[in-house]
Amino acid sequence: MTIEILPARLANQIAAGEVVERPASVVKELVENSLDAGATVIKIDIEKGGAKRIKISDNGVGIIQSELTLALSRHATSKIKDLHDLEGISSLGFRGEALASISSVSRLTLTSKPVEQESAWQACAQGRDMQVTVLPAAHSDGTTIDVLDLFFNTPARRKFLRTEKTEFTHIDEVIKRIALARFDVSFTLSHNGKIIRQYRAASNQQQYEKRVAQVCGQAFVDNALYLDCQHESLHLHGWMATPDYCRKQNDLCYSYVNGRMMRDKLINHAIRQAYSDSLPAETYPAFVLFLTLNVKEVDVNVHPAKHEVRFHQSRYVHDFIFSVCQQTLASQYSEQTQATDV
Ligand code: ADP
Ligand code: MG
Repeated sequence: MTIEILPARLANQIAAGEVVERPASVVKELVENSLDAGATVIKIDIEKGGAKRIKISDNGVGIIQSELTLALSRHATSKIKDLHDLEGISSLGFRGEALASISSVSRLTLTSKPVEQESAWQACAQGRDMQVTVLPAAHSDGTTIDVLDLFFNTPARRKFLRTEKTEFTHIDEVIKRIALARFDVSFTLSHNGKIIRQYRAASNQQQYEKRVAQVCGQAFVDNALYLDCQHESLHLHGWMATPDYCRKQNDLCYSYVNGRMMRDKLINHAIRQAYSDSLPAETYPAFVLFLTLNVKEVDVNVHPAKHEVRFHQSRYVHDFIFSVCQQTLASQYSEQTQATDV
């Protein structure tokens, strides 16, 4: 066997194995790119559970014509420049992998018009070397990424796609999680030409709660305690349901670190512990909680899909979350007792 460098497409397809698991992962990567581009209006159009089409349009800063080719190349990012930046990441993306990976396993076109540019341009990567062609196009300010026929050239992956309904449910869940993280952005999710979810931009507490109700149900909001607590550089705010509103599944466990959705053991453990005495066995708490801290105190470069983080002072973070949540739940009881006392 001789040693050879893999053709670009194959190398990207291998990388895609890590981040592009199913249509919902494509949606997550692309919507995160739109948010990083400062978009305030994002449209997500899905056809056939995402297997046929995933089209994301935004009104973000756009990509200039001369950088379209780079945007589709692997390890190309506008978000970090050096190791120093990697130690304090405030954007959702930074790996420079998503567009190259997705375009290696689909027919992807990228159309963009930055405000400062007079007209729009469209790019797509073709062939084993992923040569990029750039052509003039029509588009308003912002970017559209159109992903057709996901996994058409990786049959093993395509075989693993579930039914249209299941794949769409995963996409719906991704958008729910993101919609909770960004109340200020409007999201429209359509499936096969029909609007399924419309989250309008929210700017005050009442509108925030409306969005939380849209995602988690009115019953959650009606049973939730709002908390907002700061200690040194740590800030925790959001909603936690009273123990009476416990769930049979962990379907309403939404936690975020610096605006990034998490499935973090440490955070879940701290919250669970705060509820521990009051939750019946085999039930789950319901919460939407946002932790913010200095970006330098947390490492997000732990997992390719970035579901997990590493806190520099994990015990301290754990205990902070635990005590804030515990006090919030306790305050509810004292309010109730006072109310019955009167
Ligand atoms: P990353 O997000 O890790 O930087 P991606 O492959 O997802 O890598 O995107 C590559 C680059 O393309 C980004 O760094 C950004 O400059 C640009 N880009 C991608 N999507 C958009 C978008 N919707 N609007 C503006 N720029 C974008
Ligand atoms: Mg990205």
